Amino acid sequence: MSVKQVEMVLAPREPHYVGDGFRVHNYIPSGYGLTMQRMDPFIMLDYASKFHFPPSPYKPKGVGVHPHRGFETVTIAYKGSVAHHDSGGGGGVIEEGDVQWMTAASGVLHKEYHSESFSQTGGDFQMVQLWVNLPAKHKMNNPSYQAIQNNLMPKIQVEGGLIEVIAGEFNGHEGAASTFSPVHLMNAKLNKGGKASLSFPAHYNTALIVIEGEVKVNGTEEVPLDHFVLMANDGEDFSITASVDSVVLVLSGEPLKEPIAAHGPFVMNTREEIMQAFQDYELGKFGVLED
Ligand code: MN
Repeated sequence: MSVKQVEMVLAPREPHYVGDGFRVHNYIPSGYGLTMQRMDPFIMLDYASKFHFPPSPYKPKGVGVHPHRGFETVTIAYKGSVAHHDSGGGGGVIEEGDVQWMTAASGVLHKEYHSESFSQTGGDFQMVQLWVNLPAKHKMNNPSYQAIQNNLMPKIQVEGGLIEVIAGEFNGHEGAASTFSPVHLMNAKLNKGGKASLSFPAHYNTALIVIEGEVKVNGTEEVPLDHFVLMANDGEDFSITASVDSVVLVLSGEPLKEPIAAHGPFVMNTREEIMQAFQDYELGKFGVLED
């Protein structure tokens, strides 16, 4: 086994708003070379760093009805809570520590707002939204939805902390979410001085985000809060050491290596499939959802 080196450490760029409730730093796809192809199968990642929202009791903040086709949206709540509804009748509230894994596949309409209770009180809000591409043969599956409450995630002890497995596996412990291609997604929660040793195949695309605290990768590379680390495709093994109490999101996935045709909320394999998605959307084939 050989060491997986750090390829880049990126600072969060200027935030922008998605709707009026999600103040996000975009990491994928972005400049710095983090294209959909480079990060395959991770095609989008918006990070809402911790931000205080005042109460908004009469009108929860968020994003109105919009479609998706061809991939999965994964929402990880670190602070605050989000209510979600989709045209398949699915819905619920994602509370702190929970994950929502929505397989849009052939198409859904959905909307995402700060939950009623969060809107009443206001408070700190911090989330990750990740889009995981679907293999071509699953893009037109029926939509589905996995509500993954924090207590469903296995938590494995490491030196001075734990690994919370959302999807994939860590040291033989399988995560709570089921996926359509090999994807590992986990939180490393480490006390000051704690250390997690991780290993993924060299060709898997692998990245980290420091959600809380400050860490060192491979003992030397210092990574501040809210920064994104792209790991190189040169080896398998790396370590995260916490300089202070820290939380790090770890993502690693096997590239699908299929053509990507992306336009807004649709990610397919060909331009024709994108045109079809727009047509189906206009014909109301994504169902109905009231704003
Ligand atoms: Mn959405």
